[in-house]
Amino acid sequence: MPEITCKLLVIGAGPGGYTCAIRAGQLGIDTVIIEAEKPGGTCLNVGCIPSKAVIHAAHEYETIVAAAEGKSELGISSTKPSLDFAKTIAWKDGIIRRLNGGVAGLLKKAGVRLIAGHARFRDGKSIEVETQSGPQMIHAETVVIATGSEPVALLHMPLGGRVISSTEALALAEIPKKLVVVGGGYIGLELGTAFAKMGAAVTVVEAAPRILPQYDGELSAPVARRLSALGVSVLTSAKAKALVADGTALAIETADGQQTTLDADKFLVTVGRRPVTSGFGLEILDLDRSGPFIRIDDRCRTSMRGIYAIGDVTGEPMLAHRAMAQGEMVAEIVAGQRRAWDRVSIPAICFTDPEIVTVGLSPSESSGRGFDVKTDLFPFKANGRALTLEREDGFIRTVARADNHLLLGIQGVGVGIAELSAAFSLALEMGARLEDIAMTIHAHPTQSEAFHEAALKSLGHAIHF
Ligand code: FAD
Ligand code: NAD
Repeated sequence: MPEITCKLLVIGAGPGGYTCAIRAGQLGIDTVIIEAEKPGGTCLNVGCIPSKAVIHAAHEYETIVAAAEGKSELGISSTKPSLDFAKTIAWKDGIIRRLNGGVAGLLKKAGVRLIAGHARFRDGKSIEVETQSGPQMIHAETVVIATGSEPVALLHMPLGGRVISSTEALALAEIPKKLVVVGGGYIGLELGTAFAKMGAAVTVVEAAPRILPQYDGELSAPVARRLSALGVSVLTSAKAKALVADGTALAIETADGQQTTLDADKFLVTVGRRPVTSGFGLEILDLDRSGPFIRIDDRCRTSMRGIYAIGDVTGEPMLAHRAMAQGEMVAEIVAGQRRAWDRVSIPAICFTDPEIVTVGLSPSESSGRGFDVKTDLFPFKANGRALTLEREDGFIRTVARADNHLLLGIQGVGVGIAELSAAFSLALEMGARLEDIAMTIHAHPTQSEAFHEAALKSLGHAIHF
């Protein structure tokens, strides 16, 4: 078996792994990265990017449909459009191909060797890769595990046939007439909304008492209103039980304990993701775990010397930008720099309609940590730009310490506010106080003025409310 050596070996070229490898290459570290599928991982191939492409296509289509149905208040009319979903998917695949090539090119530019194949630990320093041309052994001084996550399936409705995960949903040949989405979290609502806009009759089955249970009710309410306007049926406190009627219907138990069935062309299961910790010899290392995840410290070190872990395999929040930030940090540590995880917050965005953006602590998390807080929100219905864009449902909310006005968290819900996350994150990382936001001139007319006004309101002198 051919053998090579390197200083750093990264398993998995998702956002965590490829960022780590590129940064290591930039720092002159002899680096090898192994990827069993395509460069870019879940995020680029079957996650963030394809889902946002489909969400955008659905938005465009729904806008024209609304105009064709005489629902445009802007005076725009149109004939009823048609949607060639196979073409939409081909367009999405074109974006992914470009980005796959981009990641491979960036790795090459940084001097990183990308090896295609499935990696398997032989011991803590030796990894065997099953490549197309046969097995290859790699010996490394340091190993980074960046194997990511995979969809969780439900016991009584295994994936296959009509039961699909987000991966298959993002590669369908046509829009299902009837779609049941099991799980009203991030993926279920992002994709459920998109399919509803593209003409599917969508029912969401959510076990918790409300959709998006990870967010507070104030933030999820505008999303629930929009789902209702789109005709999406949302069943909360409802549990998926099992497939019945030869796999054409789903038995569910509703809030009042009643059993009922829902028939559909497709059942999209989005009840969470689990870390990829099996199938590559990890058990040989017997690393400490934190629940199902690999336990890491503030430098992403595992319980074994010389073995790091980053990204989804290390736990929540399972977000691409967290994986990337960890990857960059680990490369710098391997290069001898003094680094540790010291980020104030990891922003989260749910790309529903409207979008939800959160950074830092929510009002209840702040109180839970013993802070006396000032919480204020500014509604988009009082923001001129939002009105001109027909985006008035939603708000920006600030959470600040009552004693010194230090911002602890910023949240918002509104159409197109994902891009505001950068301003929110920067404010927290820079240790901004309400006064800093109040004293910053925010351009008019923009939705960002709602951030300014929320801070002003907390200081007792909002201008436009
Ligand atoms: P992954 O991206 O999962 O990459 C791991 C890689 O390791 C894979 O390519 C895999 O093939 C490879 N691998 C695993 N085992 C081996 C092995 N033994 N040998 C070789 N290679 C191996 N996050 C966001 O921040 N924003 C979003 O908008 C967003 N949208 C999403 C939408 C969907 C539908 C999904 C499913 C996820 C979404 N996510 C989003 C989450 C995001 O995709 C993940 O947080 C991110 O991909 C994690 O990166 P990672 O590097 O840890 O792992
Ligand atoms: P999730 O945790 O966001 O939502 C899962 C939902 O399923 C929960 O609301 C849960 O109550 C519900 N559920 C669980 N079992 C159920 C059952 N038997 N019947 C009915 N409902 C049930 O998980 P997800 O949507 O699969 O997403 C996985 C992860 O992917 C997210 O946690 C996130 O980290 C990442 N992601 C991020 C983005 C983004 O950043 N925009 C987008 C998509 C995915």
